[in-house]
Amino acid sequence: MEMFREGIISEPGKVVLRQREKRKPKEGEALIRIKSSAVCGSDMHIFSGRHPYVSLPTTVGHEVAGVVEETGSGVTAVKAGDRVCVEPLIACGGCYYCRRGRYDYCET
Ligand SMILES: [Zn+2]
Ligand SMILES: [Zn+2]
Repeated sequence: MEMFREGIISEPGKVVLRQREKRKPKEGEALIRIKSSAVCGSDMHIFSGRHPYVSLPTTVGHEVAGVVEETGSGVTAVKAGDRVCVEPLIACGGCYYCRRGRYDYCET
């Protein structure tokens, strides 16, 4: 089995690296080899242990770009070898906030 390294914020102010097993992408998913990742304000709040919606331990680095390695069934928008960046939120598109373009506050 192939492994990859993952950075975890285990407790406020502490980052640890751990090995995880790489899994096959499920239906509708794409597996991306990350080439670059940003550290944004949300990550800093998580690192400090003061993010209102995230509990520790957790992985950070939601603003990423890379190359698609493999896709699950039903994926048609990207294919292996495509260079991509990630929209880190999955919004419903129909709630009060989504209808006003504030999908980052999506209720679902
Ligand atoms: Zn961010
Ligand atoms: Zn929504």
